[in-house]
Amino acid sequence: MSNEEHNIHDFDISLICEYFSSMDRQGPGSTEATIKALSFIDNLHKNSKIADLGCGTGGQTIVLAQNTSGNITAIDLFPDFIDKLNNNVQKLNLQTRVKGVIGSMDKLDFQPNELDLIWSEGAIYNIGFEKGMNYWNNFLKKGGYVAVSEASWLTEERPKEIFDFWNEAYPEIDTIPNKIAQMQKAGYVVMAAFILPEYCWTQNFFIPGITAQKIFLDKYKGNQSAEEFIKYEKHHALLYDQYKDYYGYVFYIGKKI
Ligand code: SAH
Repeated sequence: MSNEEHNIHDFDISLICEYFSSMDRQGPGSTEATIKALSFIDNLHKNSKIADLGCGTGGQTIVLAQNTSGNITAIDLFPDFIDKLNNNVQKLNLQTRVKGVIGSMDKLDFQPNELDLIWSEGAIYNIGFEKGMNYWNNFLKKGGYVAVSEASWLTEERPKEIFDFWNEAYPEIDTIPNKIAQMQKAGYVVMAAFILPEYCWTQNFFIPGITAQKIFLDKYKGNQSAEEFIKYEKHHALLYDQYKDYYGYVFYIGKKI
């Protein structure tokens, strides 16, 4: 089968989880981008309640914990990711303020108006940007913040190959002005939107992926599903190299009014 005939939704979820739990982050990002996004948020103190949704193995959760003084509940669907996060939290002695919990971003256990900040790096696509912005708004206090990174088009037009790829992977990908308009409609003042620099994809995501892919392929030699998945990941990296002028991850920071 060619890459073109596959999309990310076709693969065995347990294999994908195993592959990604071997990496420090499960999507493009960086410590600097997390800290920059935090710099637009001014309401935090030691009693603040923060949720990190779709936290993965917690790369950004730890950065958040080290740069705020509040309490963080980090939520992900996958137990292996949460185990890795909680182990790191223990190692860094952050367990009084940071807790990894298994759960889903579309069925949150918080009270209405309870949270000061909802964080989500490279994960809101799982529920959809518009739905997530509207649903999560209920759990924020007035004056509370949302900060998410999300795949976005950087130009009005784009070549067909990259349009088709994203249309399969995540049809809700849209331009920055359209995403901002969706946030405004959902009840936020948009405080900032900035594009993640290229190294967040290359150095921090695709390059560590090369080593992880070698180890994974050695273990699953002959497993067609594993091999097709890695082919898809490689294809994703090549597409980024070719079409990075047209799309990227954008951090959006909004304040609930
Ligand atoms: N924030 C991390 C992980 C991003 S990858 C990082 O930037 O490195 C997206 C994450 O969303 C994965 O960890 C995946 O397990 C998680 N996820 C997928 N669907 C979810 C859901 N419904 N609720 C919570 N987490 C979910």
